Amino acid sequence: MAYEKMDWSGEPKKKVVIIGGGIAGALLATIVQNKCDVCLIDPKEYFEIPWANLRSKVDPTVAEKAVINHSEYLTNGRVVTSTAINVTETEVWTSEGRYVPYDYLVIATGHSYVVPRCRRDRLEQFQEDNHKIKSSESILIVGGGPTGVELAAEIAIDYPDKRISLVHNGPRLLEFIGPKAGNKALEWLRSKKVDVLLDQSINLRNISDGDRVYQTSNGDIIKADCYFVCAGKPVGSRWLRQSFLKEFLDRNGRLMVDENFRVGGLKNVFAIGDITDILEQKQGYTAQRHAAIAGKNLKILLKGGRDTKLWKYKGSIQMTMVSLGRKNGVAEFPIATIAGFLPGMIKSKYLFVERTRKQMGLDS
Ligand SMILES: Cc1cc2nc3c(=O)[nH]c(=O)nc-3n(C[C@H](O)[C@H](O)[C@H](O)COP(=O)(O)OP(=O)(O)OC[C@H]3O[C@@H](n4cnc5c(N)ncnc54)[C@H](O)[C@@H]3O)c2cc1C
Repeated sequence: MAYEKMDWSGEPKKKVVIIGGGIAGALLATIVQNKCDVCLIDPKEYFEIPWANLRSKVDPTVAEKAVINHSEYLTNGRVVTSTAINVTETEVWTSEGRYVPYDYLVIATGHSYVVPRCRRDRLEQFQEDNHKIKSSESILIVGGGPTGVELAAEIAIDYPDKRISLVHNGPRLLEFIGPKAGNKALEWLRSKKVDVLLDQSINLRNISDGDRVYQTSNGDIIKADCYFVCAGKPVGSRWLRQSFLKEFLDRNGRLMVDENFRVGGLKNVFAIGDITDILEQKQGYTAQRHAAIAGKNLKILLKGGRDTKLWKYKGSIQMTMVSLGRKNGVAEFPIATIAGFLPGMIKSKYLFVERTRKQMGLDS
């Protein structure tokens, strides 16, 4: 393929290229857009609030607010709708045959997953999922992490007559947090008649919605009209393995950053969000804090400020909330794990959609 240089040489300001339009990259682009020439590279034309994703399957009107075209909040920057495939000390190479020069680079490619390129098709996908749920009497959910648990709960509340089976290949639900939270979620799901099977798996290689009969690794038979796979997504750093940044990937494929979010001591390369090797829960609210601090640091550097002035990230308070339908939830705080209405009031009712939109300078 013949590569073409993206021409933004007429622009007088410093060039900041952000790779990845998840919450980390999108928020950072919002923060710095008036201080530099910013270019956001993302395979899709929109940003999507991830924690509204499962509600959008049972109520697709939620997606209307939670799926936001990059052009809506990035009013003073460019969007390149493509996947980054390589990076050098001066430019980013994209899959559609362009190279984009930068003065400062920020990598925010958290996890990689395939979703439609345009917003309209993504909204259509939520409608299709909703139709699938509505037209099924029985539903199989594979995976007992936060996504599987939240989806089972959303369906159990909005469609209480559906028969739901949740199969998880570990000994308890929500293994990414403590056992108390997993047990509370299990208790709640079972109280809503969700059939939860632990320590069992479903062979995903040869299954399709037409099957209707699924066998678990223990030989149990589950009959279901449709299924949803809620498995973890791979870290979005595969494309960096051939690049000059490969030496800064840890063994989990995450980028090693310092307390200013700079990669491997490089002066002009940053990483934020789930892609970083910071030892903390990979969460949207921590990704938002990364974006806020990296934004301040970029502004200092863009004004010619010194390294000693840069803000340092000291970590975030660890708290995790998993919603259980619209009114309940389970939350793990440093001192306690609670379930019921309180986490429900904080997260489950509105899923922080308005707050996230406001942060990005949009109407609620
Ligand atoms: C169902 C669900 C519920 C959640 N609930 C909560 C919650 O309640 N609270 C909370 O704090 N967190 C929650 N999280 C976690 C939170 O969503 C993540 O921690 C957060 O999305 C991480 O943001 P990120 O921008 O770093 O990465 P991501 O959201 O993974 O975004 C990465 C972006 O990079 C793009 N990308 C990947 N590879 C490339 C490439 N090569 N070139 C260009 N672009 C690329 C992707 O398309 C994507 O747009 C939830 C997650 C899920 C899935």
